[in-house]
Amino acid sequence: MTIIETDQHAPIEGFTVDDGCLCVGGQRVDTLIAAQGVPAYLYDRSLISQRVVTLRQSLPQRVHLHYAIKANPHPEIVTLLADAVDGLDVASAREIDIAMAAGGDPEHISFAGPGKRATELARAVSAGIITNIESVRELEILAQLGQQQSVRPRIAVRVNPPFQLKTSGMKMGGGSQQFGIDAEQVPQVLARLAELPVEFSGFHIFSGSQNLRPDALCEAQQLTVDLAIELARHAPSPVRLLNIGGGFGVPYFPGDTPLELKPIHDNLERLCDKVEAVLPEARLTLELGRYFVAEAGVYCCTVIDRKVSRGQVFLVTDGGLHHHLAASGNFGQVIRKNYPVTIANRIGATETEVASVVGPLCTPLDLLADRMSLPVAQPGDIVAVFQSGAYGLTASPRGFLSHPEAVELVL
Ligand SMILES: *Cc1c(COP(=O)(O)O)cnc(C)c1O
Repeated sequence: MTIIETDQHAPIEGFTVDDGCLCVGGQRVDTLIAAQGVPAYLYDRSLISQRVVTLRQSLPQRVHLHYAIKANPHPEIVTLLADAVDGLDVASAREIDIAMAAGGDPEHISFAGPGKRATELARAVSAGIITNIESVRELEILAQLGQQQSVRPRIAVRVNPPFQLKTSGMKMGGGSQQFGIDAEQVPQVLARLAELPVEFSGFHIFSGSQNLRPDALCEAQQLTVDLAIELARHAPSPVRLLNIGGGFGVPYFPGDTPLELKPIHDNLERLCDKVEAVLPEARLTLELGRYFVAEAGVYCCTVIDRKVSRGQVFLVTDGGLHHHLAASGNFGQVIRKNYPVTIANRIGATETEVASVVGPLCTPLDLLADRMSLPVAQPGDIVAVFQSGAYGLTASPRGFLSHPEAVELVL
């Protein structure tokens, strides 16, 4: 393994370099990209497997791990993770199909997301998975569907907590939200649930995403468990699923450092004791998306042109925001910052310069690196954007300007 330094970012570990060329899954990216002829997302499956192993070693054994597949729904990645973790979280009928095709155990698949259509709820009921209800409407439809299919739909209540995960990339709890049912309404919803022919599974409380501060994560986990214990007093049957969300972040930007797991371990150890004492049947579950996959993926595209505009160097590539919206800074960033970017076939080059990497789209938003220190590059060279295994291709406006699609290779 080589440690790859990019401009001011946390060092990239885990990939090898062959004679100055980045390798993913042991294969040189220049060869891989030349063979494809278009930009590509390259995913290293061994890094994903290793991440699961490391996480299991770093957290209490009693904590269950779920993969939120919207982070990267590539079927081979979902298949790999379905096998390696304890359950999958899905957010649409299509993701239900992907999870089932990947061999996910329906017992441990849960379906969250606002605005579930009746057809999607029907798919969840027939698949036998848990639906995390986000409204009373979903509860009533599920009860009807269960009667039609002569089964008791499995239901968890997604709670909108009265708090949020502090300093998160994206806040998804607290205040007014389209997500979940406000905690103060949950007792009433549980009373209605008890009257219906459905099976109560537990709670889903998700309060935020992309957090690198252990203290903030620990505080949210503690508040979440306390809230679940309080709400469980109103439940018609024991809590079996206690999904406390995730929010584990990865270092994307200059100054970010990897999440420290030790304080989270210690906090979860205490919380597991508490849950075991009060909710003995509950599986305490973390649902993580990006943490499993982000660092295993690299997006690569080719330099088409090199221009100097009034002193500033632009490397114009065949890739851009139509493939990788997040790296362009337009997927939830408030102030645009650079992802770790390098010239993949010139790793370790001594000749560097400040350059911007842009795509071919007719918008100044199509920016993959803004004035970064990079090895000096020419047309034909390969740009690599690290930390690209999550929220990449499927989170991008692929049809915009009708350029060729990127490919995805799991290596
Ligand atoms: C998106 C999402 C996740 C995954 O978030 P990451 O930041 O990728 O870990 C987990 N749970 C829910 C409910 C989500 O919507």
